[in-house]
Amino acid sequence: MGFRALLTDRDDAGKVSSAVTEIDEARLPEGNVTIDIDWAGLNYKDGLCLTGGGGLVRNYPHVAGVDFAGTVRDSADDRYAVGQKVVLTGWRVGEVQWGGFAERARVNADWLVPLPGGLSTRDAMVVGTAGLTAMLSINRLEAAGLTPASGEVLVTGAAGGVGSIATALLAKLGYTVAALSGRPQHAEALTALGAASIVDRNEFLAQPDKPLESARWAAAIDCVGGKVLGKLLKQVKYDGAVAALGNAAGIGLETNVLPFILRGVTLIGIDSVMQPFDTRIAAWQRIAETFDIAAYGDLVREIGLEELLAAADQILAGEIKGRVLVRPR
Ligand code: NDP
Repeated sequence: MGFRALLTDRDDAGKVSSAVTEIDEARLPEGNVTIDIDWAGLNYKDGLCLTGGGGLVRNYPHVAGVDFAGTVRDSADDRYAVGQKVVLTGWRVGEVQWGGFAERARVNADWLVPLPGGLSTRDAMVVGTAGLTAMLSINRLEAAGLTPASGEVLVTGAAGGVGSIATALLAKLGYTVAALSGRPQHAEALTALGAASIVDRNEFLAQPDKPLESARWAAAIDCVGGKVLGKLLKQVKYDGAVAALGNAAGIGLETNVLPFILRGVTLIGIDSVMQPFDTRIAAWQRIAETFDIAAYGDLVREIGLEELLAAADQILAGEIKGRVLVRPR
C-alpha cells in the first residue's frame, strides 16, 4: 500500500528539488518499527536538507524531516506495540535516514521515545527537536550550578523555535529571562512567554567591542553562534556558563580567553541528536511537567507537505516565528 511523502531528489547537475509523491511501502528503509506519522516539525536542519545545503543528505531520493510523532502501525520490537504513540528526534533521521515529511516512516526502535505522560502527538511536535534542545540546555546549565537566584539568563535567536521554547521553559522554572532578537515585531510574543526584557540584536552588536565587557548574564542559551556568541561570552558573570547549541548566524566564533581565565566562564556544547535514551526520557518528562503548550499557541503554525518548501526558505532566512508543524495526512 502506498503513502504520500515529500520526496527530495538531486539531478545529474546536482540540483536538489522536492515534490509530493505517492511511494510504495516496499520502498521504506529497513527498520523494526513502522509508524503512521501524525505530525512532523520543521527545524533549521530541514531547511538545509530540502535545499541541498550543509551536505547533510548523502543518498537520494530522500525524505527529510528530523523529527516526527505518530502511532505505531507495525512492530517487531517488544518495547513498542501497535497503536502506541511515539516521538522521534535526531539520530540523523531526516538526514542520513528517511525522516518525517511523509505519512509513514520505518525506523530502528532504539531511536524512539514513548510519548511522555499527558502529551499528544501534536504537543510532542510543538516541542520537537527545538524544545528538547532547549530543555537539554537548561539541564546542562543547572548541572553547572545555575539557579534562578544566579541572575539574568540571556536567550539568543529568541523568536525562533529553540529560543522561544527556551524562553518559555526558563520563565516557567523561575528564571529572569532576557530575550535577544533581531525582530522587534516579536517582542510582545516573547514577553507573553515570560521574557522579563528584550535585547535588540542590532543594538547589542553595535556596543563597542572590548576584550572583557560589563558582566551581566548569569548564563546564556545561544542559538545563533557567530558574532553574537563571541560578544555575549565577554558579558557573562563570574563562574557563569553558556550553552552553545546553534549556528543560525554562522559557524564562526571570535572571542578571547579572558572570559574563561578571568571569570571562570564555562562554554557548554549541546547536541540533541545522539543523546542516550535515559537523558531523552528525563528531558521529555521535565518538558511535559513544565511547558505550558496552550500558552505557546500563538507561536505555532500548521502546514501540509505541499507548503514545506516555502517554509524551508523562511527558516533558512530566519523568518519563522516559533514552531511550524507539518501534518502529512
Ligand atoms: P529558527 O530558524 O527557528 O531560529 C533561529 C533564530 O536565530 C531566528 O529565529 C532568529 O531569531 C535568529 N537568527 C537567524 N539568523 C540570524 C543571524 N544571521 N544573526 C543572528 N541571529 C539570527 O531555528 P531553530 O530554533 O530550529 O534552530 C536554531 C539553531 O539551533 C539552528 O542553527 C539549528 O541548526 C540549531 N539547532 C541545534 C540543535 C542541536 O542539537 N545542537 C538542535 C536544534 C537546532 P531572532 O529573529 O529572534 O533574532
